[in-house]
Amino acid sequence: GGWLGLLGGGQLGRMFCHAAQSLGYKVAVLDPAAECPAGMVADLHIQAAYDDEDGLARLAQTCQAVTTEFENVPADSLRALAARCRVSPAADAVAIVQDRIAEKAFIASQGIPVAPHAAIRGEADLRAAPDSLFPGILKVARLGYDGKGQARIDSREAALAAFAEFGGVACVLEALMPLDYEISVVIARGFDGASVVFPVARNVHRDGILAVSTAAPVKLDAAHAERQAQATAAAQAIAQGLGYHGVLCVEFFVLKDGSLIVNEIAPRPHNSGHYTMDACLTSQFEQQARAMAGLPLGGTDLLAPAVMLNLLGDIWYPSATGDAQREPDWAAALAVPTAKLHLYGKREARRGRKMGHVTIVAPTLQQAQADAARVAAALGMQAPE
Ligand code: ATP
Ligand code: MG
Ligand code: MG
Repeated sequence: GGWLGLLGGGQLGRMFCHAAQSLGYKVAVLDPAAECPAGMVADLHIQAAYDDEDGLARLAQTCQAVTTEFENVPADSLRALAARCRVSPAADAVAIVQDRIAEKAFIASQGIPVAPHAAIRGEADLRAAPDSLFPGILKVARLGYDGKGQARIDSREAALAAFAEFGGVACVLEALMPLDYEISVVIARGFDGASVVFPVARNVHRDGILAVSTAAPVKLDAAHAERQAQATAAAQAIAQGLGYHGVLCVEFFVLKDGSLIVNEIAPRPHNSGHYTMDACLTSQFEQQARAMAGLPLGGTDLLAPAVMLNLLGDIWYPSATGDAQREPDWAAALAVPTAKLHLYGKREARRGRKMGHVTIVAPTLQQAQADAARVAAALGMQAPE
């Protein structure tokens, strides 16, 4: 036992609290919001800004180790904490992955391909960008998530307009890639450098937000198995190259020509790894707690095929246009016996806001997919692809 600490009070922190508490730890959460998903279930909620000196000091005094549940925590706060207690991940690793320009340069430096791109620090960079980056996606270098701070652009003129709209902050311009599908790998690495990797998840995004993740035993399809092995090796190289401690997720694109590139890195458990809570022996959140506490990491085997459906605030609105809300029919979803419901305790259901998820775990992938379709229908959601 003892205390583990968390910067950030969102749903990832909430699920971390549950996992750490199951291992016998108490959890202190630092978050400025009076009511937040993790704060509600933590043993201590320090209500303070992420860079508040007193709040950080109190967190460090209380806890033997501190982690973060979102990538946009000020790296300086992690540095300040590291002077007083064990911190994972380290400020230097977080500083790289929270800036898309540094992140892409780091990945490429490991010999792992990324999308063709250019760093955009001013209009001149956009004027000088090669024609091959159009059509493309302009992404703010910092603070974007769930597709926010991104614009798909067809031309240089459109990119200049989008850049101005983002207020002229540093951006990355990426070529729009011909995606076949998307996958991700969650890896946990302990302070002793030993790492364990979870099975590859296959992900479907809608409007830039993760909608569905599927994990299944490697298919008897040689090309697919090879992609998985490549992705796993790349995630291990990235974690090692960053000198990373804790849980990390790498998002990949599999292109139409079969090649694999890295999209981005998240220095924390990831939405595409939520299936591990119900379908793996050890969840990604338990691994995070184990890594912080210096405990051995747990087994990551997939116990059965799983499909995870994200529950966005949209399903609280029966009409696509109106603003009348109603609670989704949870009983109808849970009438599917393979479905496990996880809600994050957020009071306000906004469209596009992650409110919870459902994981369907079944003996075969075919059944998991069929049951996922039943759950989606019960909740008034689009059928999973
Ligand atoms: P997250 O919530 O995962 O942090 P984010 O806001 O950082 O999201 P990205 O992961 O960069 O956004 O992009 C979101 C989605 O947009 C990707 O998963 C992919 O579907 C699509 N996308 C992003 N970049 C490209 C690209 N260069 N070419 C084609 N599609 C892309
Ligand atoms: Mg991101
Ligand atoms: Mg992403």
